[in-house]
Amino acid sequence: MTNPPIRTIEPEDERAILDAVERFIERDVKPKASALDHADEYPHEMVERMKEIGLFGATIGTEYGGLGLPATTYAKIVERLSYAWMSVSGIVNSHLIMAAAVERFGTEEQKKKYLPRFATGELRGGVALTEPDCGTDLQAIRTVAKREGNQGYVVNGAKMWITNSYYGNCFALLTKTDLTTTPAHRGMSLFIAEKGEGFKVNRKLKKLGYHGIDTCELVFEDYRVPAENLIGGTEGRGLQQILSGLELGRINIAARGVGIASAALDESVRYAQLRKTFGKPIHEHQAIQLKLADMATRAQAARLLTRDAAEAYTRGERCDMEAGMAKLFASEAAIENSLDAMRVHGAYGYSQEFPIERMYRDAPLLAIGEGTNELQRIIIARQLIERNRI
Ligand SMILES: Cc1cc2nc3c(=O)[nH]c(=O)nc-3n(C[C@H](O)[C@H](O)[C@H](O)COP(=O)(O)OP(=O)(O)OC[C@H]3O[C@@H](n4cnc5c(N)ncnc54)[C@H](O)[C@@H]3O)c2cc1C
Repeated sequence: MTNPPIRTIEPEDERAILDAVERFIERDVKPKASALDHADEYPHEMVERMKEIGLFGATIGTEYGGLGLPATTYAKIVERLSYAWMSVSGIVNSHLIMAAAVERFGTEEQKKKYLPRFATGELRGGVALTEPDCGTDLQAIRTVAKREGNQGYVVNGAKMWITNSYYGNCFALLTKTDLTTTPAHRGMSLFIAEKGEGFKVNRKLKKLGYHGIDTCELVFEDYRVPAENLIGGTEGRGLQQILSGLELGRINIAARGVGIASAALDESVRYAQLRKTFGKPIHEHQAIQLKLADMATRAQAARLLTRDAAEAYTRGERCDMEAGMAKLFASEAAIENSLDAMRVHGAYGYSQEFPIERMYRDAPLLAIGEGTNELQRIIIARQLIERNRI
């Protein structure tokens, strides 16, 4: 496995970018998040602002026009975005996984052609892996890219749950280029797939939460992709290429979990001082104190695990175990804290006028996306043995 690129940042540069993100959140995200979420409406204006700040190139190297941020800074950005509205962080996340796959495994021509356009947001999108019949077991995919002379490949198949695929225009597309290999991943290849003839967005999917952002079913019918878009130029490496990119994706999911867990905590700390029952604020009841203490501990532990994983990634180390632990713990923390916040808020937690019900609807996705939490446990256990062989 190729290690991630080593990145550093001066503290004052990090402060400047976090200040810009915080201004964006205060001015553009917080006032509009609730209305857009309830209307399930795409945040077009926010996307334009994110382009201006450079977020579509957050982790892309400066030599390709990106901000070249280390994963540690990126995780702080994602935490802040998700604290305000998780959907906004999703717009950049899978886009940057696609970019990471090209930057780590692409040919020099592919990097020069695509990374600058990914960085500006001119081309933006995500990753198309999951299919109607499989998500965790990616070696079972059925989308086939058939070589057609020297020109390129013809793709047929379907993809499911693809984030950013209605408004986006370019995707890292996982296919099978050889159906006969054992194991199957040796016949899997990853392409840079720009929208074009035969690339169809079949339908937008209705979801419990994660509103605003587009998640769709895609169908490929004789979709032609040029041979120069095969990432790295060699067939059979697609699964490994995309799974390496998912380390950054898992750190992103963990940071989103920290954002939701912290927002649910802060709302509860505030509300517990305002709401009175039996003549005193509810934070003086021990039952509420126990909840607040558990919520605070979970949020902080999630933050530290996420920082640890992001630091390992930033140092250029293999960090699938660290990213898996952070993703597992922080996503569960978000789920538990959003439910505890609802209990602290009583009926108001159930109301659309408070943000708690949105966090409660958004958080469960974190246990599913970028590899389910069951899969994270398997990855963690395998790495534990691998790193401690006797
Ligand atoms: C809102 C949303 C956005 C998404 N965005 C994208 C995207 O942009 N691109 C993309 O490619 N996909 C995307 N996905 C799909 C997501 O990555 C998959 O849903 C996820 O990988 C799980 O796959 P699955 O849903 O097919 O579940 P399955 O693989 O069918 O799993 C079902 C259950 O079985 C468990 N399980 C499976 N195998 C094992 C095992 N070996 N051991 C123990 N338990 C196991 C799982 O943990 C899960 O609990 C998105 C999904 C959602 C809901």
